[in-house]
Amino acid sequence: PLSYIIQILHLNRQLITEIPYSVYHFFHPFTPMKSGPRYGICSFEPNRTLTSGQLNIIGYILFKQDEAKNKVKGFFSLDGFPKVTSVHAIHIHQFGDLTYGCKSTSKHFNPYNVKHPNHPGDFPNLETKHGKIRELLHNLRVTMYGPDSILGLGIVLHEGKDDLGKGGNPESLIHGNSGKALACCTIAIKNCENVFPN
Ligand SMILES: [Zn+2]
Repeated sequence: PLSYIIQILHLNRQLITEIPYSVYHFFHPFTPMKSGPRYGICSFEPNRTLTSGQLNIIGYILFKQDEAKNKVKGFFSLDGFPKVTSVHAIHIHQFGDLTYGCKSTSKHFNPYNVKHPNHPGDFPNLETKHGKIRELLHNLRVTMYGPDSILGLGIVLHEGKDDLGKGGNPESLIHGNSGKALACCTIAIKNCENVFPN
């Protein structure tokens, strides 16, 4: 019976990753059945384990995906940087947990077991202008549908720049040597129509 199949799908994540998404989506009772678009929002807070005198970075990333087969676009809006231009790494991490600050998000989200900077949430380095980041990126390598959805995961903004795997040490192929976590957020489902910049 249907309920039995649903139970198996729930209990066996291994199985879920092996069946086509359309099948999973059909049987999964907690996934909205309507097709896209889907919106996600990640609202940053300064890393709560940093000490006073730290940069007070706030802002958000808004994600939109029209349907499961479509690419995700992201609008990055962050404030609180010094006026001098700086470049920052920004990555999706495997947990959306901020309990003990950004470190609770653990490592980079790595569903396909690849090396940095090929993780799906390894975004390009972002440059500040007049103390802000405003960047609209298309064709992100992430999805908000199915078992590899980024909804519920964490994002960390780093103090330094990502060396993109060219740092010459083992860490470079793990996290890009991008330094301290300045701010982080949890990617949440957003109910949002007509607010995404074109
Ligand atoms: Zn990475």
